[in-house]
Amino acid sequence: MRSGPGLADTVHQVPDRRIVLIAPAWPYANGPRHIGHVVGFAVPADVLARFERLRGSRVLMASGTDEHGTPITYEADKEGIPPREFVDRNNASIVDDLVRLGMTYDIFTRTTTANHYRVTQDMFLKLYEKGYLVAHKQMGAFDPASGRTLPDRYIEGKCPICGYPDARGDQCDNCGNQLDPTDLINPHQRGSDAPVEFRETEHFFFDLPAFGERLKTWIGSHDNWRPNVRKYSLEFVRNLKPRAITRDLDWGVPVPLPGWEDNPAKKIYVWFDAVIGYLSASIEWAMQRGEPDAWKDWWESPDSHHYYVMGKDNITFHTVLWPAILMGAGDFHLPDDIVASEFLHMEGKKFSTSRGQVIYVKDVLDRYDADALRYYLMIAGPENQDTDFTWDEFVRRNNDELVATWGNLVHRTLVNAHRNFAAVPEPGAMTAADETLLLEVEKALEYVGQQLQEARFQNALKHAMAMASKVNVYLGTEQPWHTIKTDRERAGTVLYVALRCVDNLKTMFAPFLPFSSQRLHAMLGYEDLIAPQPEVRQFAEDATAHTVITGDYESGDRWHPSELRPGRKLPNPEPLFKRLDEVVEEAPSS
Ligand SMILES: [Zn+2]
Repeated sequence: MRSGPGLADTVHQVPDRRIVLIAPAWPYANGPRHIGHVVGFAVPADVLARFERLRGSRVLMASGTDEHGTPITYEADKEGIPPREFVDRNNASIVDDLVRLGMTYDIFTRTTTANHYRVTQDMFLKLYEKGYLVAHKQMGAFDPASGRTLPDRYIEGKCPICGYPDARGDQCDNCGNQLDPTDLINPHQRGSDAPVEFRETEHFFFDLPAFGERLKTWIGSHDNWRPNVRKYSLEFVRNLKPRAITRDLDWGVPVPLPGWEDNPAKKIYVWFDAVIGYLSASIEWAMQRGEPDAWKDWWESPDSHHYYVMGKDNITFHTVLWPAILMGAGDFHLPDDIVASEFLHMEGKKFSTSRGQVIYVKDVLDRYDADALRYYLMIAGPENQDTDFTWDEFVRRNNDELVATWGNLVHRTLVNAHRNFAAVPEPGAMTAADETLLLEVEKALEYVGQQLQEARFQNALKHAMAMASKVNVYLGTEQPWHTIKTDRERAGTVLYVALRCVDNLKTMFAPFLPFSSQRLHAMLGYEDLIAPQPEVRQFAEDATAHTVITGDYESGDRWHPSELRPGRKLPNPEPLFKRLDEVVEEAPSS
């Protein structure tokens, strides 16, 4: 519901709205997401998008599933199904994970759409016409039975350096040396004796070294990036080589040149088409809205601001390869912020689907609320260093922080206000302590907003939680549930102050905890949306249709101190969070 008359008291209009692109890395369509994935690309991106919308920015959050490449054809072959069927199934499960997590994508599409094919080919041709693509012959590894290329890591053989019998085509796990598949002694396909055939094949290469100096200067100018991001990127730029952007494969975007286009065995390399997804998804979003040029406000304007959000294994795609493509193809807006997380481990080990060392998003959300997972990932996740997921810590954070601090503050404030006044009480004269607390919580909005803009999520969240503790201490000192028996006006004033603080804290928590913040918003008597949720729609294109995540998320500018009005009716409150190791327990109300 949109804010109607009488509800718009906290909605401000912004004359010059900040234009923000949120670009979460594209999940690879090879299976459902685990929490080690979503802590990198998903939840931090959604927190940024929700914060920017709440401060009135025009936000475009655009991404989708990355569906090409040999790992897809290899897995599909193993199951005996076409790649299309394989990615359809995985796109559906990833969409489900992301919607349940509350990810407010303006568009979450796929790299198998006709639009994405067009945009990718268009970018390829722009680079080709400017002389940045060169054809070269090289040796490639093929499966003689199917004629398909074999990815390096699906080739095994004896290590030429240490003699280890099961070295892979990309590296030897025994001695740690990087290898080329042609180095292996007795190369064969992984998990079988099937032979590997090496033959000469022609490919296009992207002339990355042509951008070396420009990239070095550009990366060097970004002292706002996290230290790991700058370090990896500058190291990578020091040693640039031309990079293959076509592949011997029958699954992918066709190469848009005569002699190549109709060759079913040559396609554009998946790394190249996947990064172009940010642009193609933005173009698709504009088409879906019926404003086909709207994407240009983000991509052709120097004034927009672009955040790319990912795990650290993806950094150089976003700081080197994608910027080089954008520089080469024309006058596009380059990345401004690279928000790269470190790794989340599980009991000290890396998450690994193949080794069964994994916690799927779906399994967590079948048992726990999305806000409990989002909170854990943002407060205890690998924002600045690798961290370890443990269930004990998940339960402790939920019970001590969400339930006992923030949930308890909300519950005792609302229960006492509702029970004694059934509305926001009319305040009497305020004490110095009342004024100081209100001012401090209002100022926290500014600090939390500043931290969020700089993607310092844990600072923002810790500060909001510390403010909630402060308001709890205030209530414990003032004890309005006792004062009400002797001084109704004073009790009303204290509860009014606490309600205003809760309303401000709700705004600060909303980007992190959208589900509970929306319920709290309603418990404070508001009827509009502060934390909208995504929906799944079908988008028809040419003769086919595909699933997209999208939504109507505009909330107006709300990153302002609460203006909660005395007299507003308060509905019956309910607890915001559940305690975890026990049955649902009411937070203490006095
Ligand atoms: Zn070796």
